[in-house]
Amino acid sequence: MSCLFCRIASGEIPSSKVGENEGAFAFLDIQPLARGHVLVIPKQHAERFADMPRESARAVMDLAQDVVGRLGKRLGAHGVTIAANDGRAAGQEVMHVHVHLVPRAEADGHGPIHALFKTRAELKAGELQEIAEKLAPR
Ligand code: AMP
Repeated sequence: MSCLFCRIASGEIPSSKVGENEGAFAFLDIQPLARGHVLVIPKQHAERFADMPRESARAVMDLAQDVVGRLGKRLGAHGVTIAANDGRAAGQEVMHVHVHLVPRAEADGHGPIHALFKTRAELKAGELQEIAEKLAPR
């Protein structure tokens, strides 16, 4: 097993475990963006979000929801940024799905995820509808 996060989920590599359920494991990020920065991963290996079996995705979101609650109640987070870098183009470095839970404080100065993007996409008239149609289930 060569995947770093598979080895963390199995306990082969130590981590600061925060919780787990049948299909997911949560631990502290080793280079936290904020105090209490947690990563939630599926126990079953999947590189990308779309590769994840539904049960893994549900387990990850269930555990993320539990941990988000604890970040507020026990660490006093005012808010939490919940984000996943999916694919190298989006900045994914570890190729095993992980959801970042980053505790936020009022006026911490980091802004919303929208602050990552300095510009907005320019769409022609009707393009929103075209895109929505492309993305609708077939
Ligand atoms: P990403 O850029 O979304 O792939 O994020 C990968 C994250 O994994 C980074 O925030 C790293 O700090 C974190 N990370 C890498 N190795 C470890 C490790 N051994 N234990 C905990 N977090 C890690």
